[in-house]
Amino acid sequence: MDSRPSPDTKAEMTTPEFGRFYLPGPTEVHPDVLAAMIRPMIPHRGQDMVELMQGFEAPLRRIWCTERRVFIGTCSATGFMEMAVRCGVKQRALSLVGGAFGERFAAIVASAGRDVVRLEVAKGRTVEPDMLRDALKRTHVDAVTLVHSETSTGALAPLGELASVVHEFDNVLLLVDAVTSVGGIPVETDAWKLDFTLTGSQKAMALPPGLAMAVASARMLEIAKGIPERGAYLDVLAFDRAAANYQPTNTPALPLLYALAAQLARIDATGGPEARWRRHEEMRRVVEAWVKGRGGELGFSFLPPDGRRSWTVSCLNVPDGANGRDLARDMKQRGWTIGSGYGDLKRSTIRIGHMGDHTPEGLRELLATLEEVAR
Ligand SMILES: *Cc1c(COP(=O)(O)O)cnc(C)c1O
Repeated sequence: MDSRPSPDTKAEMTTPEFGRFYLPGPTEVHPDVLAAMIRPMIPHRGQDMVELMQGFEAPLRRIWCTERRVFIGTCSATGFMEMAVRCGVKQRALSLVGGAFGERFAAIVASAGRDVVRLEVAKGRTVEPDMLRDALKRTHVDAVTLVHSETSTGALAPLGELASVVHEFDNVLLLVDAVTSVGGIPVETDAWKLDFTLTGSQKAMALPPGLAMAVASARMLEIAKGIPERGAYLDVLAFDRAAANYQPTNTPALPLLYALAAQLARIDATGGPEARWRRHEEMRRVVEAWVKGRGGELGFSFLPPDGRRSWTVSCLNVPDGANGRDLARDMKQRGWTIGSGYGDLKRSTIRIGHMGDHTPEGLRELLATLEEVAR
């Protein structure tokens, strides 16, 4: 049997054309990126591996707006949330919660045996700088956990401003879940002095699931040294040592690294991170314009307020009498995948994951189909 998939395999014949899968994770992966995974294995302690890792350095730094090393691990993003907590929280963290992923960060703090103080806002809202300052004045913590783009509600936190507030206090680390922002929304890792910023491969980076990536500040690495029970597999210091020599910590998910190499080359060939950010901002505007116009007439509205809407995922309240799950199902029947609401927002909202390699044109087509379905 031919070892390579031939164009007439059933899987390929039933694969829909690219540009119709708008789930807010995993995101649709470009066929060129998928194809890049079909390559022979290499020894992960050899020169080929070093060269592969060296090739990631400059493009990843541009995406993360950092001069520091970008760690790459074989696990989903939640693994690196756990790394953030185990290596960055000595005793107590303040966890900002406005949806399911903020909640997850808080739960990881608790499950790692640290104290968690929750600062909660309604779903679709974000913790604002004054609220954060008040909370930090009231409670002494070693770290703050927050989610930049809350995928469950489509809310975008004012990360730069929140970071300035955290830095008004001494020795408080800022641990950031940037899973649906890195690669789609600017994350100024160095300028905002973020101590730990993490993502997963399957969101705005538009890779298959299975990789996590993160950047740690020098301060975070110092704090980690003083925490003996960091664990082994997700020890940030092990990642720092390995990355210094362009080495993986353990046997990496090689096909996903091949996909990463292909995706980074594609990003650079299409205008770099800046062009990507502009395209994502434009996609947010496309949905906003639709909600102001025909979508609004049909009864759709944004869950998050103006100025706090993610560029990568739009969470919309559905018209009275409609149901998010049914809308997603009806879209699916027409060949389009969107997300229904998350958790207890399942029925009252839909989520359109317009991140990765999607385009404003494709998104307009999706919205036109949504109009037909909602009528
Ligand atoms: C998807 C997601 C995660 C978790 O990702 P996994 O890769 O499934 O572990 C965490 N935070 C946010 C904001 C996400 O969107």
